Amino acid sequence: MATGSLSAVAKRLRMVEDFRCTSCEEQNLQESADIYCEACQKFYCKRCAHLHNSLTKEHTTLGRGDIKKWPVSKEVEDLLRKCEVHKDKTLTQFCTDHSQLCCSECVETIHRYGTLLNLML
Ligand SMILES: [Zn+2]
Ligand SMILES: [Zn+2]
Ligand SMILES: [Zn+2]
Ligand SMILES: [Zn+2]
Repeated sequence: MATGSLSAVAKRLRMVEDFRCTSCEEQNLQESADIYCEACQKFYCKRCAHLHNSLTKEHTTLGRGDIKKWPVSKEVEDLLRKCEVHKDKTLTQFCTDHSQLCCSECVETIHRYGTLLNLML
């Protein structure tokens, strides 16, 4: 079903995003984020979250269960929307035959006869 395929794409895009702990990143460490704090506008890994929560009890944090509410940085968003083959093109379609995201250039060449869905990202 068309809508089902689209949500699969959205899920894949969401997985590509790699949320990193903001305070660890400042120390050149790569820890994946466990929570997002709306008050600080920062991501925290398990270790930092523990410290953060004990220092700032009134802050509301979003766990992995609420990952849909986590903000996506503009750069990540732009990157995810770019076509891998045609770097200057934005992905606008999804070819269900190839299960592939396509830009207008891809559609005109490789996926001309594919079943295309409009992406409304
Ligand atoms: Zn951390
Ligand atoms: Zn906070
Ligand atoms: Zn393309
Ligand atoms: Zn195709």
